[in-house]
Amino acid sequence: MNAPNTSGWKPEMTPADEDGLHNGPETVTGNRALLLEEPLLFERGKADVTGVDLPDVPEGISDKLGGFARTEPIGLVGLTEPETVRHYTRLSRQNYAIDLGLFPLGSCTMKHNPRLNEKVARMPGFADVHPLQPVSTVRGALEVINELAFWLIDLTGMHGVAMSPKAGAHGELCGILCIRAALEARGDAREVVLVPESAHGTNPATAAFAGYRVEDIPATPEGRVDLDALKARLGPDIAAVMITNPNTCGLFERDMKAISDAVHEAGGFVYCDGANFNAIVGKVRPGDLGVDAMHINLHKTFSTPHGGGGPGSGPVVLSEALAPFGPLPYTARTKDGVVHLIEEEDADAFSEEHFGGVMQSFGRMTAFHGQMGMFTRALTYMLSHGADGLKQVAEDAVLNANYILRSLEDLLSAPYASAGPCMHEALFGDEGFGGDLTTLDLAKALIDEGYHPMTMYFPLVVHGAMLVEPTETESKASLDQFIAALRHVAERAKAGDESMKEAPYYAPRRRLDETLAARKPKLAWQEPETGEA
Ligand SMILES: *Cc1c(COP(=O)(O)O)cnc(C)c1O
Repeated sequence: MNAPNTSGWKPEMTPADEDGLHNGPETVTGNRALLLEEPLLFERGKADVTGVDLPDVPEGISDKLGGFARTEPIGLVGLTEPETVRHYTRLSRQNYAIDLGLFPLGSCTMKHNPRLNEKVARMPGFADVHPLQPVSTVRGALEVINELAFWLIDLTGMHGVAMSPKAGAHGELCGILCIRAALEARGDAREVVLVPESAHGTNPATAAFAGYRVEDIPATPEGRVDLDALKARLGPDIAAVMITNPNTCGLFERDMKAISDAVHEAGGFVYCDGANFNAIVGKVRPGDLGVDAMHINLHKTFSTPHGGGGPGSGPVVLSEALAPFGPLPYTARTKDGVVHLIEEEDADAFSEEHFGGVMQSFGRMTAFHGQMGMFTRALTYMLSHGADGLKQVAEDAVLNANYILRSLEDLLSAPYASAGPCMHEALFGDEGFGGDLTTLDLAKALIDEGYHPMTMYFPLVVHGAMLVEPTETESKASLDQFIAALRHVAERAKAGDESMKEAPYYAPRRRLDETLAARKPKLAWQEPETGEA
């Protein structure tokens, strides 16, 4: 079925380097051993091929389409089923995944996704429900959402939780909108949100998107929020501060309670970016530190897949002060013991009857209630670990990160290593690299060693930053192999090994213009003007 490549198409070959390092003889197919090359779907598919049998269009149907019936071919190419399966399977083999190896992206918590989660998520009662089904037919699913909500509230020591946000950044927006609604409810128009320099880019972006002016909070030389500078800036114009704890330098913000107290005293709210909750889950309850809103990335701390930018989930836990302003719909177990889905039309009556207050929701974040598939997985993860297991997750994650920090600090500059142990991630800089070698070159050389690079150039407060987060699911043997690889490329960088400028040598493609690709993505295929593929 799958004919060899006869179209005359040839992949862009990696040029042979001087030492003949990569290239053996050119192959007639363009394939390299079992790593297969192939053209784009548009270049290999055929307009008259399809993998499914469709019925003929009935006579007269176009009369019913109000003049919108298509008169020209749709312009999509077709593939048979095996061609389709092979195309996407081949593409997937050129990708790197947590199921292939250690994935050291700092701040992303690329931990193993347990197969038990998958098994439970695929149970028909969870996998096959639809958000428009009558509520009476999805009681079990609502129980799951409510149980997960209960765990999140319990683990964080907070008052309520909005389950619907679909990513960490979406959760940030939800939290900031709650804060805005709470301020508006008391007739207090505040304009500024304070964000530390080391913050994830989504924090200032969220505040700006919600209409606030963003100002920096300076850091101390040890990489923590400068409490005195923060206090000096507080005043009647500050709506909120957004603080990541543990922060993106891999350090716990020890002054968090003092920060919250000062912000509250000045009439503002405390947003905590909880993306790094993996380092403290079961050990610290953010509610005890005075946090008003915090998102939790289920796809980080609670082991659900990071699906290629896809199905994330970012529930936001809320303090007592903010909970009444949270989004609809939400689930609640009422006195009759049943979990209900509370929508706009019944929110006020429901709050009156069961909680003795009026709901002041700012509105909705999503069409429905959130990412059911992620809820099922996250709750499975929690129940399979138990409270003691989750605590051990945090301890092991921190242990693994410190093992990496201490195994490399003699070779790579580690700006905050002298301040004591790190939390869940180890931060290095590019100080002492030879020649004009950069963090990018080291990262590319790490690809040749079989590893996805660590987070680079973030946080911005460290020159040439490399942020490594091993997570608790790596064994010591796996960490040792990664450390050996990183030491090797670090030694080459310090020795000024210029050959790193050309790395990666062994990847299917070498140096791509990633900036151009991000800024000017080509999102649609265009037929080559010459008519040749
Ligand atoms: C991952 C992350 C976010 C954003 O979360 P998404 O789920 O990717 O939207 C925000 N802040 C920090 C510190 C993060 O690591």
